[in-house]
Amino acid sequence: MRIYLDYNATAPVPPPVIDAVTVALRECYGNASSVHVVGQQAKGVLDEARSAVARLIGAEPSEIVFTAGGTESDNLAVRGVAEALESAGRRHLVVSAIEHEAVLNTAKALGKRGWTITILPVERTGVMVPAALASAIGDKTALVSLMLANNELGTIQPVAELAAMARARGALVHTDAVQAVGKVAVDVRALGVDLLTISGHKFGAPKGVGALWVRRGLTLQAQSTGGRQERGRRAGTENVPAIEGLRAAAEIVVRTLAADAPRIRGLRDRLESGILGLVPGAVVNGDPAARVPNTSNISFERVEGESLVIALDLEGIAVSTGSACSSGTLEPSHVLRAIGLSSSRVQSAIRFSLGPATTGAEIDRVLEVVPALVSRLRSRGGGRG
Ligand code: PLP
Repeated sequence: MRIYLDYNATAPVPPPVIDAVTVALRECYGNASSVHVVGQQAKGVLDEARSAVARLIGAEPSEIVFTAGGTESDNLAVRGVAEALESAGRRHLVVSAIEHEAVLNTAKALGKRGWTITILPVERTGVMVPAALASAIGDKTALVSLMLANNELGTIQPVAELAAMARARGALVHTDAVQAVGKVAVDVRALGVDLLTISGHKFGAPKGVGALWVRRGLTLQAQSTGGRQERGRRAGTENVPAIEGLRAAAEIVVRTLAADAPRIRGLRDRLESGILGLVPGAVVNGDPAARVPNTSNISFERVEGESLVIALDLEGIAVSTGSACSSGTLEPSHVLRAIGLSSSRVQSAIRFSLGPATTGAEIDRVLEVVPALVSRLRSRGGGRG
């Protein structure tokens, strides 16, 4: 049996989503900008999808901009606001130390163009500190970009509180909600932010499709220039079949989240307490309470995380050491370093991330395999001190 516990890297595509994409590929081949019936049929797919994505996050359909995923949405939010506000003399940006590279590297690129960047520290639990944000914001702050849930730890940030503080000081607020949507209920108005990033492949849509929610009335500088698609905010012929997949996946989340989240939390908690009980020297990273229900990040003392990932893979169990984009680079996780873990604890960390298809039998199997693998790696000296 193959066990997939790497949902934070990407999720399998459920059969109803595959069917919806296939039908759209076959039948909705029109260009949504064409005036004829075939084009208007494609436009109808976009309209339905825009409404479904809006419902998922408590937004208006006209506020949804379809993109090619989380990275593009983050870039559009950060660069789009920066370029729109540059001429008004606001050239300061605040991001947290645990943002995804899509935000961090975009901020750094703006830094090279003369922007001042403040990197906000986080607590040892991975939670951001409102007082630190208060002192970071100034008159020149254009944008604050703080993620809603962290991809490696699952930590949920007090975004509503942080956003209220930032907006009271005249800054706009973007939140990367890629790891929150599909795992917890997300409501843009309750969060009080201005922009919010979604990535479809984290909750069952195909890869390469996502959305940026842009609060009505907010001016954003388009980053791809060309046609007038997406109300001039994102040029290029829309990927209708992928967007149809995003619709189908969003509707499944709206229907199933309330029942799935507690079930997944129960499995995650069983996995976690099982490992802590069976494996000496195992310790959970991040905030045990303020977390999305599917994620557990655990360090295994005296074990090299990468070796454990490979050993688990040989047993048919897919997990990862951190973010999929950084793993394989041998770069220690910037998130785990930012919360102040020792280098040995960083190197020995594994992320288990569960999803709607995870079963109790799979968790039992993982609990059978992990203790034996950890002691084998320790006895071979395959770990580190
Ligand atoms: N933001 C976060 C928090 C993520 O976890 C990811 C993906 O790992 C992204 C952004 C990038 O999304 P995408 O893979 O759709 O470009």
